[in-house]
Amino acid sequence: MRYLVLTDIHANLDALEACLADARPRGFDQTLVLGDVVGYGAQPNEVIDRVIGLKPVAIVRGNHDKVAAGLEHAEGFNAVARNAAMWTLNALTPEHLQWLQQLPPGPLAVDESVEVCHGAPFDEDEYVFDELDATRAIAVATRPICLFGHTHHAIAFELRDGGLAQIDPDGGSGIVRLRKGSKFLVNPGSVGQPRDGDPRAAYAIVDVDAGTIEMLRVEYPVAEAQRKILAAGLPPSLAQRLAIGH
Ligand code: ZN
Repeated sequence: MRYLVLTDIHANLDALEACLADARPRGFDQTLVLGDVVGYGAQPNEVIDRVIGLKPVAIVRGNHDKVAAGLEHAEGFNAVARNAAMWTLNALTPEHLQWLQQLPPGPLAVDESVEVCHGAPFDEDEYVFDELDATRAIAVATRPICLFGHTHHAIAFELRDGGLAQIDPDGGSGIVRLRKGSKFLVNPGSVGQPRDGDPRAAYAIVDVDAGTIEMLRVEYPVAEAQRKILAAGLPPSLAQRLAIGH
């Protein structure tokens, strides 16, 4: 089984299309979506249509999905994120709003090997940045591979013999080698708004049988996504940050 893993797409259709074009020749069987389908970007309806078309075998909601769907107030959001969430709520078609509102919270067990969540397996809104956060999160993970998003940082942790460490995917090749007896906690990075200093769109392919997670980065037309954000009247800082990946 090969899973295409997409998270934090954030209504960036240009980035999503680039990831799908890159993933298709590599091949995948099913799609997993880890939340924040919308918010920040200018094409929420188009992105939702594209995600529905992928028929994800598992999908969970993100914090931006909740606020843009009107399920939660934007109190924890800064002014820019709040502005974008309100813009999104207005832009969504009634059908897409309804689709967003019915997304389940994580964690969700996908199969015997894989589970997915937006923030952390113990709380959908928690951020997992460092080894301390990861130690708490991996302790409650119910599967050997726990996939998460939310931070927009591509990162992988391995718990082996009671010790947890951040791992460098196979010496920088981007391939995480899954070892029996270990637990893994992996964030593929954000499709639509990377914040780890690399502006390329991020996604992953998990191959359960081969025992690998490919951490992938793809160039996409950033200027197009920026132009759409500005034309939509969204905060200009949302366009600027795409160019620097932060
Ligand atoms: Zn996000």
